[in-house]
Amino acid sequence: MLSYQQTRWKLSDLFEAHDGPDMQAANAELERQVTAFEARRAQLTPEIDVVDFLEIVRQLESIDRLAQRIYGFASLKFAADTQDQVAQTFLAQVQQAMAGIENRTLFFSLWWKELEQAAAERLMAASGDYRYWLEEMRHFKPHTLSEVEEKIINIKDTTGASALHNLYDAITNRYIFKMTVDGEEKELTRGEMMVYARHHDPSLRAQAYQEIYRVYGQDGPILGQIYQTLVRDWRNEQVELRKFGYPISARNLVNDIPDEVVDTLLQVCQRNAPIFQRYFRLKARLLGVERLRRYDLYAPVSGSDKKYDFKTAVEMVLDSFYHFAPRLSELARRVFAQNHLDSEVRKGKRGGAFCATITPDLTPWVLLNYQGRPDDVATMAHELGHAIHSLLADHHSAFTQHACLPMAETASTFGEMMLVDRLLADETDENVRRDMLFQQVDDSYATIMRQAFFALFERQAHEMIQQGASVDELSAAYLQNLETQFGDSIEITDDFRWEWVSIPHIYQVPFYVYAYAFGQLLVLSLYQQYKEEGESFKPRYLEILAAGGSEAPVKILADAGIDVHNADFWQGGFNVISRMVDQLEALPPL
Ligand SMILES: [Zn+2]
Repeated sequence: MLSYQQTRWKLSDLFEAHDGPDMQAANAELERQVTAFEARRAQLTPEIDVVDFLEIVRQLESIDRLAQRIYGFASLKFAADTQDQVAQTFLAQVQQAMAGIENRTLFFSLWWKELEQAAAERLMAASGDYRYWLEEMRHFKPHTLSEVEEKIINIKDTTGASALHNLYDAITNRYIFKMTVDGEEKELTRGEMMVYARHHDPSLRAQAYQEIYRVYGQDGPILGQIYQTLVRDWRNEQVELRKFGYPISARNLVNDIPDEVVDTLLQVCQRNAPIFQRYFRLKARLLGVERLRRYDLYAPVSGSDKKYDFKTAVEMVLDSFYHFAPRLSELARRVFAQNHLDSEVRKGKRGGAFCATITPDLTPWVLLNYQGRPDDVATMAHELGHAIHSLLADHHSAFTQHACLPMAETASTFGEMMLVDRLLADETDENVRRDMLFQQVDDSYATIMRQAFFALFERQAHEMIQQGASVDELSAAYLQNLETQFGDSIEITDDFRWEWVSIPHIYQVPFYVYAYAFGQLLVLSLYQQYKEEGESFKPRYLEILAAGGSEAPVKILADAGIDVHNADFWQGGFNVISRMVDQLEALPPL
């Protein structure tokens, strides 16, 4: 019988210590393997024998596993105490060493991408579980330039796009925001300001947003100019030089999602904006106002202060997994049994939560900062969901275990849904039920609709900038985008014209944001299918998870009978949200 207590994790399954004999041996072994790998370089020819080729790939995987183990230890030790100077220094050393190893082994992927199609197909046909990993690398072949051109782009990027990213960070990270709270003036970071965006006092919510966009707005013309330049650079490189059809297509290929699937996804999102508009009208009624201001979007509604002690939380989470499939709770239990969970709140420990999968043969490590609130329980279900996903895919290679970005949140979000369903079924206190449902719909809004409309704005902005649009014209388009999103359900003030210059993602990783909407809607749609089909759905779902990253996402889903090209599939996700809003509307008034 396991006893569930809040403890720190044990890292000895990786290494005893950063300077122990096992670590020294691992480093020596890594060096030996990298040297042996380098010695095989001359064998990489189009005529290479399949057996030799696979041996080389296995050598590379072995290097990767060992490197991940060392890096995993360093980064987990640091996460457990970010103020520990030994951990800090060790992590920096390991990062440096890993970059060196990456450079020494890079020749393999360069050769592989260059290889002519017939030879590549011969080798891929014989490479089993490595096939998709090998195939995926080659997707970029038609968009890859000559070695000289690639080198020039790299060199010019360091003083071009990368320099602008750093400049944007440097400018926006030094912003200080002022808030007057209870007559006292405070100087806050943006993260601290967002706490006030969720405050129960409406005037503090308004003050927080007004101050954020006052500060961003002061630099608006400059930040906007940085954006215009980055967008032009993106088009010049991705569309003009690399011959992608559209600016967004370059990102779609990284995600391995076809352009038309992303188009369908965004169309369905746009069509379903009225669901959240209905939700915001309901929220206005509960807050006793005629119409919600944009400042009130994340206003808390009832605020029950229900707490769950750690043991109860673990039992609830495991029980909800068990209810779906006993195997899932068994896998989650392994994380506890092996002491791979750090749930304590400690000074210096990294905030938030994550799940780290190091190599397929090791049970993942989970970090939580558990404080007993309902959303802490949901986070536990989320991170253990990630662990389950990895464990179900642990028969794959180190290169094919991890699900790609749009699929990476499947088991975690599904785990949360199972928990919330279970809690809603057991909970009799209407206030707690209301809070849980509001939390769910708030999260769905922030992950799906908000991100989808960012992506729609990006698509439009890339087009407008190509046509020579000014920063003011972009701001006007952004306000228009908000109006389409909210209709008349929300009052939008002029301050929000600068919101777009405050979104780092659209600067740093163009078109990244739609992956959030993809992942969350995918899970809601799957959950919907589960509700409709019951038992027969379960094996299909477990297959999706067990595939890990060993196939293209569209293929994994097609094998489970899901057609992501079909708008109805995505609509299924919105139907779940619509029903949650129905449930909220049916609850008795506060
Ligand atoms: Zn996650």
